[in-house]
Amino acid sequence: MNPATVNTGPSTDDRAAGGGAPFLDVRDLSVRFSTEDGPVQAVDGLSFSLERGRTLGIVGESGSGKSVTSLAVLGLHDRARTRVGGSIRLDGVELVGADEARLRGLRGSRMAMVFQDALTALSPYYSVGDQIAETYRRHTRCSRRAAGERAVQMLALVGIPSPQTRAKDYPHQFSGGMRQRVMIAMALCCDPDLLIADEPTTALDVTVQAQILELLAEVQQQFHTSIVLITHDLGVIAGIADDVLVMYAGRSVEHGSVTQVLAEPRHPYTRGLLESVPRLDSAVDVPLKPVPGSPPSLLAVPGGCAFHPRCQSRAQLPDDLCGRLRPELVAEGGHAVACHLSAADPLATPESNDTRRNQGTTP
Ligand code: SF4
Repeated sequence: MNPATVNTGPSTDDRAAGGGAPFLDVRDLSVRFSTEDGPVQAVDGLSFSLERGRTLGIVGESGSGKSVTSLAVLGLHDRARTRVGGSIRLDGVELVGADEARLRGLRGSRMAMVFQDALTALSPYYSVGDQIAETYRRHTRCSRRAAGERAVQMLALVGIPSPQTRAKDYPHQFSGGMRQRVMIAMALCCDPDLLIADEPTTALDVTVQAQILELLAEVQQQFHTSIVLITHDLGVIAGIADDVLVMYAGRSVEHGSVTQVLAEPRHPYTRGLLESVPRLDSAVDVPLKPVPGSPPSLLAVPGGCAFHPRCQSRAQLPDDLCGRLRPELVAEGGHAVACHLSAADPLATPESNDTRRNQGTTP
């Protein structure tokens, strides 16, 4: 892909006040694995950016490339079997191709992750206090005593009652919501600038889910942390994110502010996701409409638009255009969509569509 010819989304330039490079800038990211069944292109030409203190929600079904993207940012992929291309810059520092020692230095101190399943991510053999203290000591080389005090301080910050006592408890002695708080405490103990939360509320009931989201928002306000929130739940995105990136089969299909994407979705996949969640703001019962079919295997992504086998809007375009030609991501007013129905002329190049838009000859 030639980045010069493709508008890769509503980047920073559209919204950043004062210009300058964004805090997290991902350009044309590709992640490819080798598997026993063949190569898998898990992420393909993905671009997005994030400013300090803002939250980007990445949504999509399982297998859309959301979690792989976050692992690539943190450099946590299996290096022997994975090829990462493109660019990931954190505060101007290039992470693609950086050696493991450098990434290890950045993980925890400048960027951290809250994993999906706290019970698996935490070690059952150590108390939660020891696990938080260990993370802190590794990056600050402080004394054991200072690290222990930090662990208690962090448990208090995330709302664990009696933190001094609970720091001595083991993960299995906590409820699911409390374990997720411990994970957030561990991720935040070194004051990272970037927090990636991968489905942090999936296994939790709605009340605890709301508490965890509130906690993330409070933490962000207090520390001006940038957050990438990965989820399949659009309700979670609506509650906390500033911007939304919708992924399908490893690519971005829609990208913009929460208002643009959730209130005026342009991509049929985004509309399908929205129609499949219950609406509590409607006086009448709106029947749920699931997106037909299932996401494609990344071993055999359909040609043309990867969504075309499931898309009910494709009939609006002639000559099986959607099955033949992959739509480029084209942005207008900070709202980027990869769908032929949104392009001024699907057969034109991205530049000619841009030119026509600038001349006001297209809607
Ligand atoms: Fe549907 Fe065609 Fe748009 Fe793809 S490009 S989302 S198949 S209308």
